[in-house]
Amino acid sequence: MASKKDYYEILGVERNASKDEIKKAYKTLAKKYHPDKHQDSKQKKEAEEKFKEINEAAAVLGDEQKRAQYDRFGHAGGGFDFSGFDFRDFGGFSDFGADFDFGDIFDTFFGGGFGGFSRSRRRENSYRGADLRFDLNISLEEVAEGVEKTIVIPRFEKCDKCDGKGAAHSGDIVTCEVCNGSGRQTTTRRTPFGLFQTTTTCRKCHGEGTIINNPCRLCKGEGRVQKSSKLKIRIPAGVDDNTRLRIAREGEAGIKGGSPGDLYVIIHVMQHKLFEREGDSIFLDVPISFIQAALGDTIEIPTLKGKAKLKIPEGTQTNTVFKIKDKGLPNLNGYGRGSQNVKVIVQTPKRLNKKQKELLNELAKELGEKTTPNKSFFEKLKDKL
Ligand SMILES: [Zn+2]
Ligand SMILES: [Zn+2]
Repeated sequence: MASKKDYYEILGVERNASKDEIKKAYKTLAKKYHPDKHQDSKQKKEAEEKFKEINEAAAVLGDEQKRAQYDRFGHAGGGFDFSGFDFRDFGGFSDFGADFDFGDIFDTFFGGGFGGFSRSRRRENSYRGADLRFDLNISLEEVAEGVEKTIVIPRFEKCDKCDGKGAAHSGDIVTCEVCNGSGRQTTTRRTPFGLFQTTTTCRKCHGEGTIINNPCRLCKGEGRVQKSSKLKIRIPAGVDDNTRLRIAREGEAGIKGGSPGDLYVIIHVMQHKLFEREGDSIFLDVPISFIQAALGDTIEIPTLKGKAKLKIPEGTQTNTVFKIKDKGLPNLNGYGRGSQNVKVIVQTPKRLNKKQKELLNELAKELGEKTTPNKSFFEKLKDKL
């Protein structure tokens, strides 16, 4: 079977030609090839063939529904096989004079009044931008007070030149003529077992339903461009390590005007060189001398906000924890502040001179507990030793 000529080619129009353009092309060609205009029998025969072709093409392309079907299936599955149909039998075209208005016949016969097929059901062809992650380190002091940080993030942002549409001008976005905006292509094959239909994503528009004839030169049709942006972020006081802050719509711009993604800022609270943290409490180890522990003292200790004084009572044991209220971190749920917990570590002198040793021996004699600083402790262990 010889392949049939394309209907658009026959009428000499573009695939996206309007109905008026098709009508105009039909009118011109129908007048030119009207069989009655030719006397020579050979020429008349050729004109007849051509005339038939033109009418067939116009009958399909002039009817929106048939045209859509033809666009999708081509000659294969349309059910409009006109071969062998003699248009002269149909209303007797040969009776019409050469002055006959083929524009009228076009409207009357070829679906002039049928406007039922709607193309307004266009697919959404934009995509949401990606979510972004930004890792931010902050200090414990910043956690204590809350902080505003300026961060710089490389990301896609909406193209200003085309306002995110991706086209040089809004008129450059047209419905894909291959799938008629559906984004899908259905192919019908006739086999010995029957008709087989396969639906695939339209190869021309990749399922978008629209084609950008003239893409924006700045973003190359994507509707977004790579930029680096400064962003101010408010970190609330008392924030926990690994807290994830979601900042809506500050992720990457969408493609072709799609909504932007979100930005997730992951807060990492840096290890402090003095303090350990547990919830809204902080912990600090402070060395004191055995003299301070025995006699008592008032010492200066660091806090998250300047220095504070801590009173060590006389007779303080090593590892005693002193709890200082409200010197910790603000409670995220609004219950005031946590405490600062100071653990004192009693230091034993490592190198003593002769005189110092004599003084300590004298003290030991005075106290009577040189070898057993805690008699009850060793009495409990007696059986086990
Ligand atoms: Zn398409
Ligand atoms: Zn652009």
